[in-house]
Amino acid sequence: MVGPVRHGAVTAMRKRALVVGLGIAGMSAAIGLRRAGWTPVIVERAPERRTGGYFVGLFPEGRRAAVDLGIAGDLHTRNPERKAGANTWSLDRRGRRRPALGFLDQPGEPAAVLRGDIETALWQSTTGVEVRFGTTPVAITEGPADVQVLLEHAGTGPQYRESFDLVVGADGMRSSVRRIVFGPHEDYLTTWNAMICAFQLKEQAPSYEAGDSIIIARAKRAVWVFGLADHAPTALLTYRTTDIQDQFSGSRVDRLRSVFSRMDHPVVRHVLDSLEEAPDHLFDSVHQVRMPRWSKGRVVLVGDAAWCMNLYSGMGATSSLRGGAALGVALREHPDDLTAALDAWEAGLRPFITRHQRTARLKQQMFVPSSRRAEALRSVLLGLARRIRGRRQATEAGGPQGRALSGTSR
Ligand SMILES: Cc1cc2nc3c(=O)[nH]c(=O)nc-3n(C[C@H](O)[C@H](O)[C@H](O)COP(=O)(O)OP(=O)(O)OC[C@H]3O[C@@H](n4cnc5c(N)ncnc54)[C@H](O)[C@@H]3O)c2cc1C
Repeated sequence: MVGPVRHGAVTAMRKRALVVGLGIAGMSAAIGLRRAGWTPVIVERAPERRTGGYFVGLFPEGRRAAVDLGIAGDLHTRNPERKAGANTWSLDRRGRRRPALGFLDQPGEPAAVLRGDIETALWQSTTGVEVRFGTTPVAITEGPADVQVLLEHAGTGPQYRESFDLVVGADGMRSSVRRIVFGPHEDYLTTWNAMICAFQLKEQAPSYEAGDSIIIARAKRAVWVFGLADHAPTALLTYRTTDIQDQFSGSRVDRLRSVFSRMDHPVVRHVLDSLEEAPDHLFDSVHQVRMPRWSKGRVVLVGDAAWCMNLYSGMGATSSLRGGAALGVALREHPDDLTAALDAWEAGLRPFITRHQRTARLKQQMFVPSSRRAEALRSVLLGLARRIRGRRQATEAGGPQGRALSGTSR
């Protein structure tokens, strides 16, 4: 349905879009659409907006998209203050702590946030956008001039049909829009034979400072603690397994205790004890979504629904912001040609997504090595990178004098 809307003295036809999902991708797309002159309506399956979440590193492309979307000023970041000694510690097999490179030391100097920080900033900019909680699409049918969506109130069950000019599926890795319009999950979800569990710690591990990060990366299992400036750290447990189905049976806490039982260290015990007391946690298998095309007619997918790179890439939130912002730009630049807009949007974004989907495999080895050999190699490479970085920083801090000194020593 295209409804007439008054713009001053002129009556214009505003196009309506259904955005499915109130996550980073959905809200970014809704803001982008509104800036392009569309009227977005967001439906969210959950009964209310979620808050909190796990540690997310936001890279320059994501920060630029936040500026483009006008939310950068509302985005609360939590990078711990840099110390002269170390912020990140790696524990070796004998339990000794060593200064290490952490997630925030990657090129691009990611901003440390919680997923909820990004969502809160986006939420503040979606004032005036209609949001229907507890609502989900059950059928999507495209006609010659619109797309008909059968919506259901989750839980109570009443269904109603509504017409839109565009449907944006931003409903995450196991997207219902993708299943309804493009086909079953198995056609698009690649399995990575790995599991994750992410949650907030009740407090920092004993004997570490509040903003410290801690990494224990062993063959096939790893424990990461992400220190934050003004918030309790969050933890990530990740392990490799080929029996994904089995991981979802029985008690999660018991399973994780059993998987990490060989890592008997006070930090691991602290993290596992915290899990039992955590108000919520995310426990899931790891996948990547691979699709040859992200749109079909008047239906387009964004964020994890379209290209979930997975947590190892560290680029999911960044790409969701960028994808939503770019969709708005493409629709603005092609106001009368939806196909041209979606083609231009995908052509502009695809190389960036493909690059990061590929590098995620390598980054997985950094998060959780696949073998003892990979564990040893990871340790050598990161040790080397840390020394090079230390030398570069010392040279930069020394200025011309430092450079002259290093020149004479050769
Ligand atoms: C542990 C972990 C660490 C991560 N670390 C980083 C990082 O460091 N850097 C980074 O950039 N990214 C990171 N990511 C990835 C990033 O969090 C995600 O890529 C991003 O949040 C995806 O956003 P989204 O909006 O596409 O999907 P989601 O966050 O999954 O949101 C989907 C929304 O749709 C709703 N929904 C689902 N189904 C329906 C339905 N049928 N009807 C209506 N609504 C529905 C859901 O309730 C949800 O609100 C990490 C992810 C994890 C799990």
